Amino acid sequence: MKPLIIIYGSTGTGKSDFAVELATRFNGEIINADAMQMYKGLPIITNKLTAKEQRGIPHHILGSIELDEDPWVVTRFKREATRLISEIRAREKLPILVGGTSYYLDGLLFDNKLVEKEEQESPEGWVSNRDQLSDKYPILKGPPDAILKKLREVDPVMADRWHPNDTRKIRTSLEIYFATGRRASDIYAEQRSRRESKVANQDPTPRQNLGEILLFWLYARREALDERLDKRVDKMVQNGLLDETKEVYDYLQRRLASGETVDRSKGIWQSIGFRQFEPYLQALKETPESSELRKLKQAGIEDTKTATRQYAKYQVRWMTYKTISSLREEKLLDRLYLLDSTDIHRWNEEVLAKGVELARRFLNDEQLPLAVDISETARDVLTDSVQKSNQQATPCRKTCDFCNKVFLTEELWQTHIHSRKHHKVVRAAKKRSLVPAHYAPPRALVAVDTHMSEGHSSGNESSTSLNPP
Ligand SMILES: [Zn+2]
Repeated sequence: MKPLIIIYGSTGTGKSDFAVELATRFNGEIINADAMQMYKGLPIITNKLTAKEQRGIPHHILGSIELDEDPWVVTRFKREATRLISEIRAREKLPILVGGTSYYLDGLLFDNKLVEKEEQESPEGWVSNRDQLSDKYPILKGPPDAILKKLREVDPVMADRWHPNDTRKIRTSLEIYFATGRRASDIYAEQRSRRESKVANQDPTPRQNLGEILLFWLYARREALDERLDKRVDKMVQNGLLDETKEVYDYLQRRLASGETVDRSKGIWQSIGFRQFEPYLQALKETPESSELRKLKQAGIEDTKTATRQYAKYQVRWMTYKTISSLREEKLLDRLYLLDSTDIHRWNEEVLAKGVELARRFLNDEQLPLAVDISETARDVLTDSVQKSNQQATPCRKTCDFCNKVFLTEELWQTHIHSRKHHKVVRAAKKRSLVPAHYAPPRALVAVDTHMSEGHSSGNESSTSLNPP
């Protein structure tokens, strides 16, 4: 038996501590799967365990990349994690993955899905010189509408696949067409069938190489978690969050001053606890005596709290709508155990004791209990998540004619038509008598492949994104 333990969970649920507890008991080594914790330094911003808290357990991929590096793409993570898993096993120890970034864990577990997505969304593999290409085909520099229209002509399948606001993906598909003379949709279909025939020829899939898997989901109910996260931000500030943030800020200023271009849309620049304090740091530099400073600092703290809570919510949504449906497809759902970390005072009984017992049985190849029988929270949340992921599994493409928005999953569509914003638009339209009193439900259009679908909406409804935070 080649066992592997994987721990999912949102920020603030205690998964890093839990991983250390398992590693000390079962002779394990930990592989970090948190995109921000991969960066060197910044222990406060990224909530890294201190050396003392790591208790001598090796932590791989933790603090291993420089601040100016991009976060790893999923392919890279997969490669490194797979290598580490076999190295740890060669030392006759138990590999334990813990994240943070479900995008990485899913990438490792569900093989081709995310890798395929990554290939499709970055034109690099197909288009060698994009500048040259757009000189030759000026439409690529044109307005998004025109690009979409052209794509619809040459490759309607791809035109339907992307959300109309997703200019980048739409342009990429058109670039591929111009660069290769072939439809992107044909290229992808070919790739897919090649991969499928590989599977049919019984090449061992990478997941089989992962061995026997036990999955944990550390979960805390919303209100309790929000409160805990707020307190944690206060504590981070006491522990010197602002010094760390200033360090990052100064580093950024130095790079900008030396004329470098810095892509602020990813990596450490997007970390929670940095962005939120930028206005404060800017003011601090310009007028260190300003009376505004205190206000800006307080605003930074509040924004950091809000962003942290939103991030935790996003992590749970990812679990519910992506990881759980993939686990089901891969027939791994019965290996997912939710541990309830809602009440921090009961952490030892609810998380530690139950988790350790499950791991012990798993490693001894004893029978495991049903996941829904672990706790009341486990029953509630798992049942609810499976139901929601069912809903989401229904591919759709729906357009709200009132708001002029497109939705690619049932879940996003449902969220939208029940949103305050949508009702407001409908009410306003009725007032202007543009619609009869009983408006017909907006039309549903063609179905699209959910694997590539990404929900999009602007405004209040939350949308899901497959990019690492
Ligand atoms: Zn609407």
